[in-house]
Amino acid sequence: MQKAMKRNPRQRTDGLSEKISSMKFQKYIKQCGRCPVCGDTHAFDYPWQLAHKIPQRKWCIAYWGPAVIHHPDNMVLVDSLKCNQKAQINPNTLKAAKHAEAIRVRIGKRRKLELEGN
Ligand SMILES: [Zn+2]
Repeated sequence: MQKAMKRNPRQRTDGLSEKISSMKFQKYIKQCGRCPVCGDTHAFDYPWQLAHKIPQRKWCIAYWGPAVIHHPDNMVLVDSLKCNQKAQINPNTLKAAKHAEAIRVRIGKRRKLELEGN
């Protein structure tokens, strides 16, 4: 059984906040505590922002699907709003289309591995 924890009343209960914290931690480790846009390093408790490369605009989610838009490969940990904006890929470009396609291939590969029981 899970330990009873004091819940922040503003905390989401759908597991999304846990997913986000976990992704933040994974990204922090992967990026060695460095903002990939400006190169500054900070402690883990710094107010990092998880930025979407292809932005989570309604049409982007409708076009590429939430699995692509919210995929870890479309997320990057940045240290400011300025870096957040710089991390974004213009969704109307070929670069965005290629990036989304690469994520789709990765998702496809993972599904295949799951089907094969790996
Ligand atoms: Zn930065």
